[in-house]
Amino acid sequence: MTNLMETYKRLPVAFVSGAGAYLEDSEGNKYLDGLTGLAVCGLGHAHPNVTRALREQAGALLHTSNLYQIPLQEELAERLCRMSGMDAVFFCNSGAEANEAAIKLARLRGHHQKIKKPAVVVMDGSFHGRTMATLTATGSRKVQAGFEPLLSGFVRAPYNDIEAIELIGANNPDVVALMVEPVLGEGGIIIPDEGYLEGLRRICDEHNWLLILDEVQTGNGRTGALFAYQHTSMLPDVVTTAKGLGNGLPIGACLARGAAAQLFQPGNHATTFGGNPLVCAAAISVLKTLEDDELFERAAELGERITSGLRDQLRGNNTVTEVRNKGLMIAVELSNACPQLVLSALQKGLLLNVTQDNIVRLLPPLTLTDAEADELVSLTSQVINDG
Ligand SMILES: *Cc1c(COP(=O)(O)O)cnc(C)c1O
Repeated sequence: MTNLMETYKRLPVAFVSGAGAYLEDSEGNKYLDGLTGLAVCGLGHAHPNVTRALREQAGALLHTSNLYQIPLQEELAERLCRMSGMDAVFFCNSGAEANEAAIKLARLRGHHQKIKKPAVVVMDGSFHGRTMATLTATGSRKVQAGFEPLLSGFVRAPYNDIEAIELIGANNPDVVALMVEPVLGEGGIIIPDEGYLEGLRRICDEHNWLLILDEVQTGNGRTGALFAYQHTSMLPDVVTTAKGLGNGLPIGACLARGAAAQLFQPGNHATTFGGNPLVCAAAISVLKTLEDDELFERAAELGERITSGLRDQLRGNNTVTEVRNKGLMIAVELSNACPQLVLSALQKGLLLNVTQDNIVRLLPPLTLTDAEADELVSLTSQVINDG
């Protein structure tokens, strides 16, 4: 019996502490964390830099209000903009909220252009959150079912299909923006073709649309750069992020560039908690650590090591159809449904996730040692090979 709403089918384990890539449960069992709370604890658990920043800030000041100046918020915004090429940031508490801010920016811009029913292009297979606007934007019927009426103002397109977007551009004068994940996360670590983001950038420029990248999961170093678009030479107009930004503290951000950075005016958008001193101190320590410890390069290197190890150890397993990755977003796709692997991994002391029924997903910490990466490869391969 529990007094919690039944929103989750939870696994039968409760963790009490963590250190680096490992978690410990209430019975003293250790687990290698190949999931980091869904791409949240990118620096691993109890990272000393984050712990120190939090201790210091917790003893000084937790919260004031966005009615006042918050120097740590400005410092974090300055650092994020320098590292991303963007101009201004709105801080909130989650990925869904960051996407809500982006959708509101797009609609506001549409109204400035006298478009009465501005629309945003969104992709099949995408995931943008669980609020009404973001679940409407999400390209999954499972997420939407039971919550109709959905919002108006979204146009759907297949992912990784430039021609489909060109067709929408030619036929939909109400479109004001396009929102897309650089790699589909919940959708199964789907990596688009080379040149996809540049193609979207070109179409957005042709039609004067905002290009909004949802980097809630791909951001904060996960793919081998602070943001996944930094593997290309293009810049988006708006980027949203959250998950890994606070290493476990709830913080989201909506970043914008150029005219989009000037759209919100006092009264347009707000949040009580967003960007308070505590979460900003955590996020500053995360960004500093990512840079100082050269973890972008390291994430790319670890991604190669793990995927090539998995390919080796899964060779000959003919249920494996593909092993793919973008940095430390790693997928092993199977030909059959495999939801049972989550529990069998847990019993072997490994945390992983299965998405889309048949895709084993790993989102390990960027701080893994080579030996830990190799342990992740051998445990994951065992779990998959044992079925
Ligand atoms: C997790 C996720 C979200 C939602 O983030 P929340 O913090 O759970 O609201 C949005 N977009 C993407 C790509 C995500 O992976």
